Amino acid sequence: MTPAILPTTIGRFAPSPTGPLHLGSLVTALGSYLLTRQGGGRWLLRIEDLDTPRVIPGVADDMLRTLETLGFQWDGEVLWQSRRSEAYAAALDRLLQSGVAYPCGCSRAEITRIATAPHPGDEGQVYPGLCREGLAPGKSARSVRVRVADEPICFQDGLMGPVCQDLAATVGDFVVKRADGLFAYHLAVVVDDAASGVNQVIRGSDLLSSTPRQIYLQRLLGYPEPDYFHFPLVTDPDGAKLSKRDNAVSLASSRNLEREGHLLLFDSLRFLGQNPPLFLRDACCVEILSWAVEHFSLAAVPRVQGPFLHHS
Ligand code: GLU
Repeated sequence: MTPAILPTTIGRFAPSPTGPLHLGSLVTALGSYLLTRQGGGRWLLRIEDLDTPRVIPGVADDMLRTLETLGFQWDGEVLWQSRRSEAYAAALDRLLQSGVAYPCGCSRAEITRIATAPHPGDEGQVYPGLCREGLAPGKSARSVRVRVADEPICFQDGLMGPVCQDLAATVGDFVVKRADGLFAYHLAVVVDDAASGVNQVIRGSDLLSSTPRQIYLQRLLGYPEPDYFHFPLVTDPDGAKLSKRDNAVSLASSRNLEREGHLLLFDSLRFLGQNPPLFLRDACCVEILSWAVEHFSLAAVPRVQGPFLHHS
């Protein structure tokens, strides 16, 4: 019998250049790098500069420099979402052609006025479906939405366990092309992951509730579903969401990074529940990473968020 050939693991790190790399993104980059490399996989880098009004000039280059300084090596060319409009337009076209996507003329204010729920959920106000059966007379298209199905979307997260979400009850038909003409994040992510053959998505657990929408789009577009691992978020010492100031490592901006980047990596490993030997604290970034690829234990990664402790 011929042995089955296992597909290569393809992971990625996909930061948005809307602010400098912070401790939370460093931890995600590290977790994704280690798990992918441990499986002998390819690790890709994608700059999610799709939301142009929020992109800060120079930050993307800063991110690349930072990752390089910290010893991360990615495979192939960096993918820039701002150059991928044609691919997103083609996917959107397929959704429109099949009738699962439709133009929507509602403004946010209208949705809030009409929505029945007194308090919006975590995902904001559930879209009440006003334009589902066509634009009301006198209305013109602003955005494009995808019609959701009335059944839960479930998946097994490699870290957080089983997750199910009823899209109709929690988000409703969601936007795939925004009123400002930009493609929505959910569409871009699934198109890019599929185009790059990404089969392992590792990212922060703040995106856990976005995943069912993305899986739904993958199903509609006939893309394979990657394995998901949502990693714990970094909080401030009191367990609250990090402020910009606490969070910004602004890793590339300082020469410190060259001197002290290895300490950040060491402490990030500890945040991820790993137990690097003390002597490694004085090693260079590349050595720390290669130790970590060899010894990384997914089972040791905490399932809950927590503060980033600087031991070094
Ligand atoms: N660009 C997103 C962020 O920086 C991550 C998207 C993803 O990993 O799917 O939070």
